[in-house]
Amino acid sequence: MVDKNERIAIIGGGPAGLSAGMYLEKAGFENYVIFERNGWVGGKCHSPNYKGRRYEMGAIMGVPSYYAVHDVEEFCGVTHEGGPKLNRNYKDLQGNVIDPFDASDPARVELVGEMRNQVKKFGELLATKYKGYDVNGHRGVAQGRYDGDAVTPQREHIEGENENLKDLALPFKEFCEKNGVPLVQQIWIGPFTSFGYGYFDEIPAAYVLKYLDFQTTMNFVKVNLWTWKEGTQSIWETLNAALKHPALLNSDITDVTRADGKVTITVNGRVEVFDKLIVTAPLQFFGQYADIRDDEKAHFDKIEFERYDTQAFLTKPEDAPEISYYIMENMVPERLGHLMVYYRRWADTIDQPYVTYTLRKHAGGEELGYEETKKQVLDDLAVMGNPAEKVIDEGKWYYFPHVLTDDYAAGWYDEVEAMQGKYDTYYAGEVMSFGDMDETAEYSRELVERFFAE
Ligand SMILES: Cc1cc2nc3c(=O)[nH]c(=O)nc-3n(C[C@H](O)[C@H](O)[C@H](O)COP(=O)(O)OP(=O)(O)OC[C@H]3O[C@@H](n4cnc5c(N)ncnc54)[C@H](O)[C@@H]3O)c2cc1C
Repeated sequence: MVDKNERIAIIGGGPAGLSAGMYLEKAGFENYVIFERNGWVGGKCHSPNYKGRRYEMGAIMGVPSYYAVHDVEEFCGVTHEGGPKLNRNYKDLQGNVIDPFDASDPARVELVGEMRNQVKKFGELLATKYKGYDVNGHRGVAQGRYDGDAVTPQREHIEGENENLKDLALPFKEFCEKNGVPLVQQIWIGPFTSFGYGYFDEIPAAYVLKYLDFQTTMNFVKVNLWTWKEGTQSIWETLNAALKHPALLNSDITDVTRADGKVTITVNGRVEVFDKLIVTAPLQFFGQYADIRDDEKAHFDKIEFERYDTQAFLTKPEDAPEISYYIMENMVPERLGHLMVYYRRWADTIDQPYVTYTLRKHAGGEELGYEETKKQVLDDLAVMGNPAEKVIDEGKWYYFPHVLTDDYAAGWYDEVEAMQGKYDTYYAGEVMSFGDMDETAEYSRELVERFFAE
């Protein structure tokens, strides 16, 4: 355990870094500094202003089981009450509104019925055969163990053996087929692929199911979701303002040297000395400014990521989308670079930015260029009947760092977990759990509990 007076540096002022600060403070550690490279906090929770209201270029929503985000709300007083209600519809490739889950449609009745059966079976399998699948983080999974905190408000610690958990290294598509429930992919795909997390033929089931555990997926199905009136960025801005030591913005870290039990950081030309370091910024780039060791480099070089683009656009009044739309047929690798979702945030005005979501990377294939994808998305919008008049904002995100099946199965996570603290350095942020705001905040909570608090 760490002495409460030790000086702790945190790199990154996104959800992972700010919640690390909050949980440290709650555990009695007040000697910490958060370094944020940007001139603002929130990272991929980014909510710019348009005519006095905030729209979302990054994260949008949460679910009632976002317990770490709930901790943040309690700590600083921000609330999801009063956030705009999410509402969506589906379109086919020609832009016609459809309902792929309409059981009263004679053409779909059998498929929808079978899908429901498989979802029920899947829920049972997850609770029994895959017991422990949903704890935060990936410790032990590749060895057939679970070791983490339950997804409950109390987050009680659970651990045990379960050989079946090794299946979670398989790509989700294979995992579903192996369990005789291929149709569940049609339910899970909406909040997964269109939210930028890649395709089911490439991404290990562990990521899909730790984020979209059964209860979370059912919340998506029932549209039982949280949004924030001032945007998701306001969660982290409010938390930052409530911390004893708000993040130091515009921090340009040019060197991190770890030696003799100390961590020396050069930031904006100034040299500062710490006892411990928590890295929440992407580990893949740690070596660009730190004295990265061979074992760190060997693991961080294996990290994959997605290219997820968002564009905020305005329309002529007659072209405004009535609601948000999902285009399910564009959520497959063959349709890489096409429009998957476009989001209307406010019901009460058409004078607002609408935001598009597109992937342009698939494991093993060539990454598509940003400009050609942007053009494709604008063409798609026109086909959908909602042509853009003007693009006012663009997000090119380094997204969802993860490892692929072979590295997952070979124990990447247990090896990196075993390195926690080795160089007075702790690793947190998206890759250690999953790329959503709650999983990253939750991982920071557990990290503080495991390595710092008594
Ligand atoms: C388009 C989009 C939609 C999303 N939708 C949702 C959603 O609906 N719900 C949800 O829960 N999540 C969603 N997410 C994901 C969520 O935003 C991220 O998973 C979450 O922000 C991750 O938090 P983090 O702190 O680990 O990383 P980040 O948010 O990426 O924050 C990392 C921070 O570190 C800083 N940094 C990087 N390098 C350095 C350095 N060298 N020195 C100092 N600082 C550095 C960055 O500037 C950044 O502020 C979405 C993200 C995007 C982009």
